[in-house]
Amino acid sequence: MKVSKMLFKTLRETPAEAETVSHQLMLRAGLMRKLASGVYSYLPLGLKSLHKVEQIIREEMDAAGAQELLMSAILPAEYYQESGRWDVFGPEMFRLKDRNDRDFCLGPTHEEIFTQTVKSEVSSYRQLPLTLYQIQTKYRDERRPRFGVMRSREFMMKDAYSFDRDEAGLDASYQQMYKAYCRVFDRLGLDYIVVDADSGAMGGSGSQEFMVKSESGEAVIAFCPHCNYAANDEKAACVPEKMAPEAPKKLNKIHTPKAGTIEELVEFLGTDSKHFAKTLIYVAAGEPIAVMVRGDREVNETKLANLLGVNEQDLALAEADVVTQVTGARVGFAGPIGLSVSVYCDLEIAEMYNYVVGANDTDYHYENVNASDFTPAKIADLRTITNGDVCPRCGQAVETTRGVEVGHIFKLGTKYTEALDCTYLDENGKAATPIMGCYGIGVNRTLAAVIEQYNDENGIIWPVSAAPYQAVVVPVNCSNEEQMQLAEKVYNELKAQGIEVMLDDRNERPGVKFKDADLIGIPVRITAGKMAGEGIVEYKLRSQQESIDLPAEEAIQKAVDWIRGELKFEEK
Ligand code: ATP
Ligand code: MG
Repeated sequence: MKVSKMLFKTLRETPAEAETVSHQLMLRAGLMRKLASGVYSYLPLGLKSLHKVEQIIREEMDAAGAQELLMSAILPAEYYQESGRWDVFGPEMFRLKDRNDRDFCLGPTHEEIFTQTVKSEVSSYRQLPLTLYQIQTKYRDERRPRFGVMRSREFMMKDAYSFDRDEAGLDASYQQMYKAYCRVFDRLGLDYIVVDADSGAMGGSGSQEFMVKSESGEAVIAFCPHCNYAANDEKAACVPEKMAPEAPKKLNKIHTPKAGTIEELVEFLGTDSKHFAKTLIYVAAGEPIAVMVRGDREVNETKLANLLGVNEQDLALAEADVVTQVTGARVGFAGPIGLSVSVYCDLEIAEMYNYVVGANDTDYHYENVNASDFTPAKIADLRTITNGDVCPRCGQAVETTRGVEVGHIFKLGTKYTEALDCTYLDENGKAATPIMGCYGIGVNRTLAAVIEQYNDENGIIWPVSAAPYQAVVVPVNCSNEEQMQLAEKVYNELKAQGIEVMLDDRNERPGVKFKDADLIGIPVRITAGKMAGEGIVEYKLRSQQESIDLPAEEAIQKAVDWIRGELKFEEK
């Protein structure tokens, strides 16, 4: 492709709205443009890379025996009503009505629709197992669209669904997808870890997420460098810290004026936050409840929602007026003693002696609180793991890091097949319910994650597998005939050898062309400059600083060999 003919505009300045490197570079390199919050248009360069990612996913899905099909994005409400998710999705679901007042949504994910397809197309055990997938547009009205295409409201997802006759079959289908996912992310050169993830209050017997390590990731991962345990912080099990037992002292109400936060209390009483228990009032599915964690810990709302059996979106910290109604005190003075709502305690509370809690009385706390002073509804793991916490598997210290969730694999069970009454006839002619797995990859998010890991101060450094073009040929001065001729020759020969190549034939200063080539991150650059008359070009990889001068033929062969080598993917 000749750059002079391309829809191509790079930006020198970093757009103010873009917080993450990938978002900044996708805008600056002209890969995409914003249309509205969380809504983007892909320009030609960006679309080429997006297609590369899509194709890698497609190849690995096909190789794993999954079959591609394509569903609509506009979907009738009834299937989501049958599964119950018409309500569960809440405001995240884009809803619309047709001219006859029938309800539709823009598909946020397609479990129901694939189940419906299997229900209508599969009748016998002979047709199972079956794994189906599509690469298709999804819509979610995210509460906080951010980081460009990392969290957008329209995005491409590869979603796959497996249907098996038994648990062993599901395990095998799941393992196949696991391996295919590893190959996809390996081919893209991503540094990722696979973590145990929460399966939600909705059931399911296991789930893992593929996390690309990145500072800008929204997810927090706990991993153990000693035993390789890895889980996201919604799931990571917390081991309670043991405290030295103490003989119970006498419960005592103390005046703590204006000490409504843990920091203020620490300051006021001069003890550390491990000797306090926070009591937080939540509203869960309309009911106020209280949750206790040690003063230096955070409540994990996913674990709490799972314990209560409610959806996470039906769980929120209570507003100040509700707190006052429940406790009779201002926010900051809640405590478990004498409270009329159920109190859920983190495991660590059971390890504490003679500690301090709010007294349900403004400006008062109790000190010397012990287990016998109140009765919890339940004691469970309700806190979020932190750096240095004890590994639940091996007991050494875990580390936490940030990650971008690019893929999710999930053993679903029969939730959707049962809800939609999807059955097949087994070997004995009896109706049986297929067991499902579901497997998603965010295509755009994966593309952004690649940029997040492959860049420097000058721009993107594409791995060949995702590069919009594999090579760029730059004539330094387009009005110099020798340079132009040599550049065109190199360009044509590379093209003839199947290389995806750009010719930067714009009448721009060489500095501009080099800056652009670096910004858009094309892996190989071949420059025809001063030595063009002798048939010599400069050969440079975007990932390396050095360049070398070579006869054009040699440079072409070197480029072809290197690109082919990079694309050859051997299983790890
Ligand atoms: P998140 O926790 O980040 O919202 P999710 O759990 O809602 O993700 P899934 O429903 O498992 O995501 O969707 C499968 C994949 O789709 C995710 O792993 C992610 O890569 C991608 N994805 C989900 N939401 C978005 C979004 N708003 N924009 C871009 N990609 C997304
Ligand atoms: Mg989400």
